[in-house]
Amino acid sequence: MLKEKILIAGPCSLESNEQIQDIAANLKKLNVKIIRASLFKPRTAPSFDGLKNQGIKILLENTIPLNLVPASEVLTIDNAVDILKELKKYNYPKMIFWIGSRNQNHIFQKDLANLLKDYKNIYLMIKNQMWHSFDHFLGIYEHIISTNFPIERLILCHRGFAKSKSDISKYKNIPDFELAKDIQIKTKTKMIIDPSHITGDKKYISEIIKKANEYNFDGYMLEVHDNPKTALTDKDQQLSIDEFDNCLNLINSSLIPL
Ligand code: PEP
Ligand code: MN
Repeated sequence: MLKEKILIAGPCSLESNEQIQDIAANLKKLNVKIIRASLFKPRTAPSFDGLKNQGIKILLENTIPLNLVPASEVLTIDNAVDILKELKKYNYPKMIFWIGSRNQNHIFQKDLANLLKDYKNIYLMIKNQMWHSFDHFLGIYEHIISTNFPIERLILCHRGFAKSKSDISKYKNIPDFELAKDIQIKTKTKMIIDPSHITGDKKYISEIIKKANEYNFDGYMLEVHDNPKTALTDKDQQLSIDEFDNCLNLINSSLIPL
């Protein structure tokens, strides 16, 4: 079984230089090694959808020199190519690129895996698709490895499945830890849990961490914001630094970096 545990923390989206400077320094003090701060944000309704290319330099400047690993969603191949151009200036250090739930189609999965597979420090994270399906989640994995993308640099992330009209749940998305565990076992690939997008509400995050802990997954991704009330995206689910600190003892993770 995979031994290394992963902890990714940071704001839903990169909002400004000041924001990432503050949050990265505070997370580093708490021994977090991987900072998420998405540059590109798919949105349900039109509103702030990321700093996009203007944020690339800002993200890298505020993480890599501090020995932190940046992580961002990408929506297109061009997004990834633009980040790689900037990463070249740092000699391609570790970074995580991920494909979000709304954007799971096999053409993009394979194109991105093909683009990234020869960069030995670049990790690819894939979130489960929005709808509840074991086969589709497994299929994402299969499409990625059909490109010979190395499994050691692949991370799967369970963020729950969208509710249908008849589902009653206090969570924004419904987790299926049994399904996630089956995929982790079948694929022998790291599977991490995203309590922020499962719950949609920070008051349930610790209970989801406790439930997920029973399954011994490979880590967590949590949204943490310097000032959650003012967050431009996903404001109800982002933890403050103090709230995140309180959750840390629940994460039975050895916090070994990638
Ligand atoms: C995110 O991680 O910010 C995100 C948008 O997640 P998801 O694709 O799981 O909704
Ligand atoms: Mn988010």
